[in-house]
Amino acid sequence: MATKVISFYDKFKCIASDCPSTCCRGWRISIDEETVSRYKKEPGKEGMRLKATMTFGKNKDVRKFFGRCANETKDGLCRLELMGRQELMPEVCRIYPRRSIKIGDDLEVTFELSCPVTAELFLENVNNIRLIDYDGEEIDPVWIQDKFNEKYYNDILKVREKVIDFIKSDIPLPEIMNNLYLYYRELHSHVMQQDIDITSIPISGRAGIEDKGRYNFYSIAIIDKVIMNDLDDGRFRSQDPLRDFRKEYNRIFGQMTADEADRFFHRKCEEMAKAHPALSDKYKAYLSYYTYQMIYASYETVTFYKEYLMGIVYLMVLMLTDLVDYVNLKDMEDIKRQVNNLNAAEKRLRHNVSVKKNIQKRIEREFIKEKEGYKF
Ligand code: SF4
Repeated sequence: MATKVISFYDKFKCIASDCPSTCCRGWRISIDEETVSRYKKEPGKEGMRLKATMTFGKNKDVRKFFGRCANETKDGLCRLELMGRQELMPEVCRIYPRRSIKIGDDLEVTFELSCPVTAELFLENVNNIRLIDYDGEEIDPVWIQDKFNEKYYNDILKVREKVIDFIKSDIPLPEIMNNLYLYYRELHSHVMQQDIDITSIPISGRAGIEDKGRYNFYSIAIIDKVIMNDLDDGRFRSQDPLRDFRKEYNRIFGQMTADEADRFFHRKCEEMAKAHPALSDKYKAYLSYYTYQMIYASYETVTFYKEYLMGIVYLMVLMLTDLVDYVNLKDMEDIKRQVNNLNAAEKRLRHNVSVKKNIQKRIEREFIKEKEGYKF
């Protein structure tokens, strides 16, 4: 099996009890079937204890006590890991924050950026976002894509390389976002109809003059609903960076009309790009990273177009976290500030199933249907 990993894979080390945003809290942790059957077979007191940590019903989750995993110790560590019983940890906990997908004989491993350590590694490596060969310790796949069609698989890898080269080129970010949207839309229709060689579809030269330079791929009216309705799941901690972001965003944009907000966003993005060119590198790196993950994960479902549109929502929220800090004269080079924003936004928006569904519906209703005249 050929394994490829993200370039900074070997640098990851979990900081466990020192983690400011531990993965043991704040979301649903499902227990895979294999682990459930281990719990059922475990004898004695430990067996009873493990069974009590599972929720009722067919699909099992780890029970939460005051939002904390039932296996979390008072010191914020994993009881099962401390006991050296990693085999009793749900698969997702053993693998997290790795994201490993197997297609045919290939395995690709990247990281979820919802972990503060991986978010920091990503930000330290924005100029080195690529996959590299790996021959270290075996990594279990979390997702296995069963259907394998060699030609289609190779075509998809070629398409991905083409998209990544396009993102990494000198073309400005607004032009990239708009061209890719039109490209994915066409790619999607050809893949569905299987009518031409998808690797031959060109990317550049699609966006019109007006669209080319616009930072607001989506109008702020759409992103506003994501920030004001979807970002807050009612569990903001007092120190949550998104809590302050949302408040400050509302203070800055709250009194503007939709047009004023669009113009303001675009103007400030241009200003930021001039004053802090490294921010454009970060946004492009985010788009490349997202592309690596998204195209591979969508191989079987062919949802590139829709997933791309979701990626631009995440990207625009990330840009807005910077914009709000820029307007508030924060230190834009401060890596901690950027780690906190990225890690929190990924956790809240991209890895929260119900929030993701809400955003998807919003995009279908307010963008695809509006722009394309049909619903996916
Ligand atoms: S979020 Fe990352 S660093 Fe924090 S406990 Fe989980 S894996 Fe470790």
